[in-house]
Amino acid sequence: MPTALVTGGAGFLGSHLCEYLLERGHRVICVDNLVTGSLANIEHIRDGGFTFVPHDVSEPLFVDEPIDFVYHFAALASPEDYLRMPLHSLKVGSYGTHHALGLAKFKRARFLTASTSEVYGDPQVHPQPETYWGHVNPIGPRGVYDEAKRYAEALTMAYHGQQGVDTAIVRIFNTYGPRMRPNDGRAVSNFVRQALAQEPLTIYGDGTQTRSFCYVEDLMRGIVLLAESGEHLPVNLGNPDERTVLELAELVKQLTGTSSEIVFEALPIDDPMQRKPDITRAQQLLGWEPEVPLEEGLSRILREQGREPITA
Ligand code: UDP
Repeated sequence: MPTALVTGGAGFLGSHLCEYLLERGHRVICVDNLVTGSLANIEHIRDGGFTFVPHDVSEPLFVDEPIDFVYHFAALASPEDYLRMPLHSLKVGSYGTHHALGLAKFKRARFLTASTSEVYGDPQVHPQPETYWGHVNPIGPRGVYDEAKRYAEALTMAYHGQQGVDTAIVRIFNTYGPRMRPNDGRAVSNFVRQALAQEPLTIYGDGTQTRSFCYVEDLMRGIVLLAESGEHLPVNLGNPDERTVLELAELVKQLTGTSSEIVFEALPIDDPMQRKPDITRAQQLLGWEPEVPLEEGLSRILREQGREPITA
């Protein structure tokens, strides 16, 4: 039975990853400082192979047992959080990644770091293949997240090249699903929360900016396929079904049947205008593609909250 350690394991993605790994027969050590993660995300996990370790991975991490996989998911992933805690964002991307890599090296474990489509910044190449170097403003408000993740990628490749650590990098595009925090400030979380409360749906800018939303279970399948492959170079995982933010808001309105109106607010600084993953590498290397359409994934979120979606 392999053992996986998941940093950020009590967060949105981390908790789904813990569950997915347990289902696949792994033992799982979940490490989280609970700054943005929460015990509520993992309290339903009853599996005997699951352990929770409260720890901030920006501090060194020692574990007294063999580990086969280190999944490094600790981060302040939502814009609201990293704008509020910019130094924490930089620290978890730098010191945190350093400690997680050090642990993987010591344990001779396969290491997978959760990188992001934000490494492409406000992209000038569309859709974004892994070969694109990106268009990031290092000193803008998003720089504390984007550059932390870019540094984490550089550190990961250096540990691979110089220290022989068996590493993988996944560049995760916008992902949604059950257990997103209703107040995390994300488009999907906000629109669903606002629609169910009959409050206005807040579109930032004119809503013509695009994102491509991937259902969390599709992502988990891809992540574990990547971890179990021998690939070292970055791999995009995301759903190439590109939508404007206005389309997303309209869809949430339709599925919830809300009486909420749409209001337009200021676009955040450096908000990327377009984003869509080129997933050719994931298809070729892992045989992976997302399977859950946006309408279906949003419907599952609504059902999880006890609401029956209104489908066409
Ligand atoms: N957005 C919006 N209204 C909201 C929250 C977000 O219009 O209430 C926009 C945001 O400006 C961005 C897009 O939706 O253009 C996706 O934002 P999110 O925070 O979900 O993800 P990210 O910007 O990190 O891709």
